[in-house]
Amino acid sequence: MKEDFYDILGVSKNASDAEIKKAYRKKAIEFHPDKNPGDKTAEEKFKKAAEAYEILSDADKRARYDQFGHQAFEGGGGFGGGGGMNMDDIFSQFGDIFGGGFGGFGGFGGGGRQRRVKGSNLRIRVRLTLEEIANGVEKKIKVKRKIQAPGTTYKTCGTCNGTGQVTRITNTILGRMQTATACSTCGGAGQIIDHKPVDADAQGLKVTEETVSIKIPPGVEDGMQLKVAGKGNEAPGNGIAGDLLVAIEEQDHPELQREGNNLHYDLYVSFSEAALGTSREIDTVSGKVRIKIEEGVQSGKILRLRGKGIPSLNGYGKGDLLVHVNVWTPKTLNKEQREFFERMAKDDHFKPNPDSGEKSFFEKVKDMFS
Ligand SMILES: [Zn+2]
Repeated sequence: MKEDFYDILGVSKNASDAEIKKAYRKKAIEFHPDKNPGDKTAEEKFKKAAEAYEILSDADKRARYDQFGHQAFEGGGGFGGGGGMNMDDIFSQFGDIFGGGFGGFGGFGGGGRQRRVKGSNLRIRVRLTLEEIANGVEKKIKVKRKIQAPGTTYKTCGTCNGTGQVTRITNTILGRMQTATACSTCGGAGQIIDHKPVDADAQGLKVTEETVSIKIPPGVEDGMQLKVAGKGNEAPGNGIAGDLLVAIEEQDHPELQREGNNLHYDLYVSFSEAALGTSREIDTVSGKVRIKIEEGVQSGKILRLRGKGIPSLNGYGKGDLLVHVNVWTPKTLNKEQREFFERMAKDDHFKPNPDSGEKSFFEKVKDMFS
């Protein structure tokens, strides 16, 4: 039983021509013999993908295949009779798939363009306080990165004459075919080291400690990653430097809890403060703020300080600071205090009576929807 052509390319039965082409391009690159030398399984997959593409990229053949399946191409039909396409057929397809002739392959571009080697990325963590996150901060961090050692010089690679790739030409019944692979002498860069100082590594690089300035915008979150382009390890020759990836770590605040862009603060007041009213200075991410607690405040009341939260990362709007009022109940009482509260307990005025004054939370919610 032959494998379904759509399954081979990993596309659905109603995939568009563009989707089919894209899927095939991916498979061809993945299983290309130049990338998998001596791997028979890869070669087989490479051939199967090419065969599937040959049929599905042609409207007539695709229609016949949809109607009759593999039988449509058995016993003559130009194709499929003898176990699929040969390699020459496959390479001759590439012109329209990859553009730029048969050499244009993999990451090497068409027409002998050399590859720019990129240096490796570096990763660091930065621990930030909630205040730093709220206001944004510029951090100066010492980073050990590889740079091109002073005194290193490069020359054109003799193996590939600076093109970064070597071309293999084979004679086939269809004519001369060529395939290109990265030059193994220079790794595709087109340049090799001419002179380097003794303290440089094989690529002419050396590790230095550098202070990198990292601008952190307001509103970042724990686990986010920022990229400082070009501050990773440098690459040899005319290559481009890698990036510095900065992982954000958020320090717990002693008093404020973050929830998205809102902050929460637990405020504790005594019985008497709740009854008489009071004012308190509390910590926010933008300094201290004095807030007023009205007399007769109930435990559980939430005071909303608009805009005193964390700014959103996209620059639009700020979260709020939500102050939760908790009436503090002492856990132990001496004799005198006990007598005081026992006297209070006899006074009906201190019996909870939520129906009088302020509406309860549930009543407020009910009002909102009625
Ligand atoms: Zn080379």
